[in-house]
Amino acid sequence: MKPVIREIAAKTILNRSKAGGYSLNCYIGCRHGCIYCYARYMQRFHPHEQAWGDFVDVKVNAVEVLHRQLRRAEPGQVFVSSACDAYQPEESRRGLTRRCAQLLMERGFQVNILTKSTLVLRDLDMYAGYGRARIGVTVTTPDETLARLWEPRAALPGRRFEVLRAARQMGLATSVMFGPLLPGVSDDADTIELLFAKAALLEVDAIWTDALNPRPKVWPAIRDMLSRERHSLVSLYRKALFEKAWRESYLRSLRDRITAAARAADVADRLAGCP
Ligand code: SF4
Repeated sequence: MKPVIREIAAKTILNRSKAGGYSLNCYIGCRHGCIYCYARYMQRFHPHEQAWGDFVDVKVNAVEVLHRQLRRAEPGQVFVSSACDAYQPEESRRGLTRRCAQLLMERGFQVNILTKSTLVLRDLDMYAGYGRARIGVTVTTPDETLARLWEPRAALPGRRFEVLRAARQMGLATSVMFGPLLPGVSDDADTIELLFAKAALLEVDAIWTDALNPRPKVWPAIRDMLSRERHSLVSLYRKALFEKAWRESYLRSLRDRITAAARAADVADRLAGCP
């Protein structure tokens, strides 16, 4: 389906993050359309008739607004992006993420990218030039068929790992988010070990992991997709998201599998986050 692209004016672009530092999003909505996307809640504040993944609002004044905000903002860490993919297709012709990141780094901010797109390769030389950036990708499953089901328009997992390789070769710090690890899809010991072995091979500096969380609007999207494509998994996901005791025990065993995989790959010291 052709996406609906709307141009909007933002009041602010650099926002304080609850996790510390700042976040920056040049777009609302995301063409990648991941089924488990936590940013689906944004549709409550930015209503669209289209489904998540079929619309993008472009903050066309992002660079000008950032210029203004930087007159007062103290330098710190900036997460790019927290509610969209900063390198989704619209960025290829708009270049807003690139120009905002450049401005931030010029002013002494540290930029932390997290993407599922290979478009970030376009900007690696810029990031390497400033030496104030970490390039990260998210991988939820190494299986390309399953990735297509869950992340319909994102780059395939192998291409995301190639981003890490290229960033490393240019001397950039790198990170990977293995999450959400998907119940019955990518949360088993073998898959997690494979993911950590890949991170070790690519000498990734920081490894984050996450479980699937019951965020607003996520369950209907998962239920609908699984009902169509993997009906036998619907009850497992219902339990994993909504049955408190079952979920607590599940999270304990998931943490065990993650720490065991990190130790087996000899990267336990780089495990920065666990569910
Ligand atoms: S890439 Fe990120 S922001 Fe975009 S749809 Fe997927 S999870 Fe959501």
